[in-house]
Amino acid sequence: MDWEKFREHGRGMVDFISDYYSGVEKLPVKSQVKPGYLAELLPRSAPEAPESVGDVMKDVREHILPGITHWQHPSFFSYFPANTSYPGLLGDMLASCFNVIGFSWIASPAATELESITLDWLGELIGLPESFLTRGGKGGGVIQGTASEATIVALLASRARALSRDRDGAPALDAGDGGALEDAMAPKWCVYGSDQAHSSAKKACMVAGIPLARYRCIPSKREDNYSLDVAALREAMRKDKEAGLRPLFVLATCGTTSSGAMDDLVAASAAAKEHDAWMHVDAAWAGSACICPEFRGMLRGIENCDSIDFNPHKWLLTNFNCSTMWVQDKEWLLQALSLTPEYLRSKEYEAKVVQDYRDWQIPLGRRFHSLKLFFVLRVFGAEGLRSFIREHVALATRFREMIEADDRFEMPVPQSLSLVCFRLKAGNAPTERLLEMLNEGGSAFMVHTKLSGDFVIRMAVGNPRTEIRHVDRVWEEVRRCADVALAE
Ligand code: PLP
Repeated sequence: MDWEKFREHGRGMVDFISDYYSGVEKLPVKSQVKPGYLAELLPRSAPEAPESVGDVMKDVREHILPGITHWQHPSFFSYFPANTSYPGLLGDMLASCFNVIGFSWIASPAATELESITLDWLGELIGLPESFLTRGGKGGGVIQGTASEATIVALLASRARALSRDRDGAPALDAGDGGALEDAMAPKWCVYGSDQAHSSAKKACMVAGIPLARYRCIPSKREDNYSLDVAALREAMRKDKEAGLRPLFVLATCGTTSSGAMDDLVAASAAAKEHDAWMHVDAAWAGSACICPEFRGMLRGIENCDSIDFNPHKWLLTNFNCSTMWVQDKEWLLQALSLTPEYLRSKEYEAKVVQDYRDWQIPLGRRFHSLKLFFVLRVFGAEGLRSFIREHVALATRFREMIEADDRFEMPVPQSLSLVCFRLKAGNAPTERLLEMLNEGGSAFMVHTKLSGDFVIRMAVGNPRTEIRHVDRVWEEVRRCADVALAE
């Protein structure tokens, strides 16, 4: 392998990346290609003979770029953001450089230790109690690939804890009864989340083998920005208990995907505790805002929850993927997920003086994700990160005020952090038409949701390059599309 070639092409790639970021604003946000476009442009089979990096990059420029929807465009207001930053990219380059697979401490001690340290730093920054931190003793943080994986892992941990408790503290799985308790309990587990919870909650049940019929979709309260109706949760758990079923896992969301609703963790965790159910908090998007004390109210009650996860890869300047999860008691993750074949044994692990993150996740292999978080936390500092979040909330507030000042529009729910949901009072069809025109224009990209059957447009601010001028410009565009949609 000729690493001098890397030096040469690496410089070219850094230039490409820097040019991309400085020019992305000029590209259409949403890709305009048709399905299958790429197969028509690329050869049917991989090349037999080596090709040059230049040839590959030519295809990237000519064929791949047109098929990119530019998440890094300052007028990308869709879904939730996917942040990146130059410190994040540098850290990620280093992770690629070392390319260690840090599944156990011995496989690369720094990978494990840096992850525990950066997650303690970040956990402290968002105001988690010490009991969630590695330095707290029983708890700790881990980087999962995605919030969906965190939910699956938490669900598996909840099952290990429930089995152990039902066995008076004996080890949860593989306890020598030939799986009899597990078999007996399997038809009884019930999982709870609001009708606004992310679809990954249901997927977690599918993966864990819990039938969707026992995923209880608890109504949300329309009058309270579609947050979980805790009275309904209590009632559902009570009924299940009465029917001989076992409430296992409650998922509360801080910042739902549709409307940014905040479930009440104090009330939800009290309900979970009554039934000895695991309480998991999905703060995938909104969790980043908790680095600002003024937005941290959403985590009131977190001390009574068992696990929490959020995605710095959404809104904390850290490249995809980096989903940070904390638990109050790591023992249940280990009981659910630990398997140690001979070749993974180490003196340090046996002596319990280290943690092997392979026990905290589903795959064995894991990337050195904490490097990029380390770079981000250090290069921006907590102050820099806080002003980044505050800036986006201020931009969303500006957009919301413009919506409020135009009486053709309405907001079905209040602004939640940097998310504004709005629609035309004239109804679903013109609102849908407005969005279609806006996205076709290519100058901005938003997506919709449905709330109580109403078609609602979501404007999610969160791109590091978004400035006042982008918000003002998209508002002009929204107004222009509204004029047309209402006239049609
Ligand atoms: N939970 C919430 C509230 C989300 O908004 C999302 C995605 O936007 C997810 C979970 C899924 O995130 P991931 O892609 O990290 O699994």
